[in-house]
Amino acid sequence: MIGFTLSEKEFDYELQALATGFFPGKRTQINGESGDLHIAIDYGDTEISVCVETKAGRKASSAAVTGDDDWHKKEGKLAHPYRTYYKNIVKKLVFTVLRDFPEEWLPEGFERRLPVWGTMTGVRPTKIPMNMLLEGRERTEVMEILQNVYCCSEQKAALGTEIAAREAALLQQNEYQDGYSLYVGIPFCPTTCLYCSFPSYPCDRFGHLRDDYVAALQREIKGTAKLMQGKRLTSVYMGGGTPTTLSPEQLRAVIKTMQEYFPMDTSVEFTVEAGRPDSITEDKLLALRECGVDRISVNPQTMQQKTLDLIGRRHTVDQTIQAFELARKLGFTNINMDLIIGLPGEELSDFEDTLRQVGQLAPDSLTIHSLVIKRASRLRSVLEEQGALGETEQIRVRRSEQMLARGEQFAREQGYLPYYMYRQKNSAGHAGSGGQENIGYAKPGSECLYNILIMEEMQSIVALGAGASTKKYHSDRGQVSRIENVKSVTDYISRVDEMIERKRHALER
Ligand code: SF4
Repeated sequence: MIGFTLSEKEFDYELQALATGFFPGKRTQINGESGDLHIAIDYGDTEISVCVETKAGRKASSAAVTGDDDWHKKEGKLAHPYRTYYKNIVKKLVFTVLRDFPEEWLPEGFERRLPVWGTMTGVRPTKIPMNMLLEGRERTEVMEILQNVYCCSEQKAALGTEIAAREAALLQQNEYQDGYSLYVGIPFCPTTCLYCSFPSYPCDRFGHLRDDYVAALQREIKGTAKLMQGKRLTSVYMGGGTPTTLSPEQLRAVIKTMQEYFPMDTSVEFTVEAGRPDSITEDKLLALRECGVDRISVNPQTMQQKTLDLIGRRHTVDQTIQAFELARKLGFTNINMDLIIGLPGEELSDFEDTLRQVGQLAPDSLTIHSLVIKRASRLRSVLEEQGALGETEQIRVRRSEQMLARGEQFAREQGYLPYYMYRQKNSAGHAGSGGQENIGYAKPGSECLYNILIMEEMQSIVALGAGASTKKYHSDRGQVSRIENVKSVTDYISRVDEMIERKRHALER
């Protein structure tokens, strides 16, 4: 266990993420037990000091807090805007002491890894470089800052800057400022995948609610559209769950209502996450084509049948191939495929075989996700029952990193370029460990603008449906606030007017 003593309970979340980035799988505690490895931090007014201690030894370091004016003296060292400067010094100090702590002093079972994203422990490591680029800084300068201030590895600084530059260019081509995007969630799925963390209701038990759900959704679409009148719509995303669990008629009904009430002209990007291959039929794809959907996703996750069976996907590799080929035949020219690395029982060779098979289909974009097996998740308990969790967190992280690197190499060889990314929170709720990246790659021109907008939080996302979370963007402070819909489908159906009211209350202010 890693224990922290903080002179002020500030930055505790980020510091724990940083420590678990060095020591994946270790528990952390703030101002409690001292732990096998103890980190003490004193937040002074003019100096910050950090001391890392184990039974075998102790290493300390400090840094002066200067600032370029005396603002912090008047307002307090942890007040905005001085806070970020102060936090960066604290995190860099902790990073360097943990990095330089002698190997032989580490407690038994503490295997150290150098966090490749340095002190950037958040789920959106491209946000910092993208904002710097949008401010007009040069790429070389941004890369230097990522390495020197945030302690990123050279390779990740280059990747982060490359993605941020592509995001910034795509945003600049689209007038995203003052606009908003629309998300519509369909929370039904053919079955529930073991690793699922989304709103998902299996059709065999909840499918009978689909008609009522569609009616409630249409009501929310109409009610919310009134709130957004006069504002510019940038992109639309239908996700879930699995939107294609709806019948062709239900899909048409939802989309036609969206088109009637929201300004969805042809310049607005429109994606539907078809998702599960076992829900895709010719009639549904034709309905989507007829409704002007630009981009769909057909998600294999893996092309290994044994893994699909293990994780409860209940579809075959052949169904994925057939669904993809059908979509192509019907004229979809922008198809994404999602893959997951780190699935139980999969080795690098399995992932390489999946890449080979996906390469033969040649989707227009490819999103590579990292699986995180959360504590207390259904996936973890099933795998434990099957004795399939015999390896340590370190081994899993290392294999995921190899797969990520192989995925990137494959993508670049096939002409896909990385255009957005985020990091998975790990089992302790932090994004500290390596090997937890999700990266979207696309052939030039096939990128999904919505993915960038939602990841980088650059505009409001109005989200409709059960479990949907609206993000209101506050341009004055560059932050978002959330307005949540209820998660339960039955609650959503019976309380949809309340969901509209929640949005009215928050969005009209
Ligand atoms: S298809 Fe997606 S949303 Fe549905 S159960 Fe599987 S992971 Fe969850």
